[in-house]
Amino acid sequence: VWQNVLEYVRQSITEVEYHTWFEKIRPLGVVNGSLELGVPTSFAGDWIQKHYAALIQEALIRLGAQTPRFELKVTPANPVQEDIFSTSTQTPLQEPRARLNPKYTFENFVVGQNNNLAHAAAVAVAESPGYAYNPLFLYGGVGLGKTHLMHAVGHSVAQRFPEKKIEYVTTETFTNELINSIREDRTSEFRDRYRSVDLLLVDDIQFIAGKERTQDEFFHTFNALYEARKQIILSSDRPPKDILTLESRLRSRFEWGLITDIQSPDLETRVAILKMNSEFRNMRIPEEVLEYIAKQVTSNIRELEGALMRVIAYASLNGVQLSKQIATKALSDVFTASEVNFSPEEVVKGVAEYYGLRAEEIRGAGRRKEVVLPRQIAMYLIRDITHMSLPEIGQFFDGRDHTTVLYAIQKIQEAIESDSNLLQSIKTIKERIR
Ligand code: ADP
Ligand code: MG
Repeated sequence: VWQNVLEYVRQSITEVEYHTWFEKIRPLGVVNGSLELGVPTSFAGDWIQKHYAALIQEALIRLGAQTPRFELKVTPANPVQEDIFSTSTQTPLQEPRARLNPKYTFENFVVGQNNNLAHAAAVAVAESPGYAYNPLFLYGGVGLGKTHLMHAVGHSVAQRFPEKKIEYVTTETFTNELINSIREDRTSEFRDRYRSVDLLLVDDIQFIAGKERTQDEFFHTFNALYEARKQIILSSDRPPKDILTLESRLRSRFEWGLITDIQSPDLETRVAILKMNSEFRNMRIPEEVLEYIAKQVTSNIRELEGALMRVIAYASLNGVQLSKQIATKALSDVFTASEVNFSPEEVVKGVAEYYGLRAEEIRGAGRRKEVVLPRQIAMYLIRDITHMSLPEIGQFFDGRDHTTVLYAIQKIQEAIESDSNLLQSIKTIKERIR
């Protein structure tokens, strides 16, 4: 559990903070329901208490701890302890399912417009692994549910076909294990392990870019599994064609099966996710609070859930009832300018002001030369800072097609690579909007 707390914390603070304060904390045990944590100095203890207590509590609540109470103890000797909560001493090698997160099931996955195709494909694959789509390639932005869906397939297959061997691995782990096996002269063991599974889930495959040795090894793993009709599922933050320095033989293989994307959830789906999340934790949260949170966090479901946990922790720490007002307070310091949800109107206004145009001209149908570039910039910036989906952006611009939006964004992306004036203009506009 402490490992999970650390992981959670790590996502919320900078690397520097993490290294400075969290790496030296050691879990000591649970006393009267309160988690005891060893810190190297009393100064560190005070600092952590002052700056990170709420975050640690938030993480504990979020991870389902019975109480979020913890206590910091100065332990200069700083003994390294095993994760005190883990009951299993088995390594993932013996128990591959240990790598699946129990929360990431199909039952806990809210299906919305943004993910229904990916969900349907995942269900189909879980029902007949190796025979529906192979490989299944899931892509989408950070925190949109790719890992969740992969694990869901893993759980489902484990239940339906208990004899099947399942392996979930991040690309990073796969790479590290490969390197270690080479160093320790155990490559054949490594190969046997990955080539003998029935379901291989490889997360964040975009990180294979530029790693020749790993690509080579994975190519052979892929072939062995594919030929034996074993199921492969890959996730990535982008489609195969956008993974640069990916060997073409791998790219084409990634495209053999089905490629499907997950988009940002709409408001309705976000509320549904929050609702399910609170039910999962046996908590009843007023609808208006859920809606408020769902309106604040639009692009990343992990952050959405984090916001809910923060609100709950805030209310319980202050001993107050949950209300929209409390939620506003709890989140006020979290959403600094960069995360505040800008409306597309604000972005268009910013662009219009910069170019001396009217907002309606930018959003409208006109194709005058003077408005084309600003319009493309507006689309680009909306995608950049609001995380609306492409179809939503198209809709906003006089019902244009999402391919038009995509084209505009790509155009701007390409242009700013060579045109530093344009890049500067965009930076300026962005700052003004903020
Ligand atoms: P990714 O791998 O795409 O970065 P994750 O799968 O880690 O995203 O999801 C981030 C968090 O959001 C997880 O806690 C996950 O359970 C949750 N989540 C994502 N999509 C959904 C969904 N459709 N329904 C419920 N929870 C979701
Ligand atoms: Mg993931």
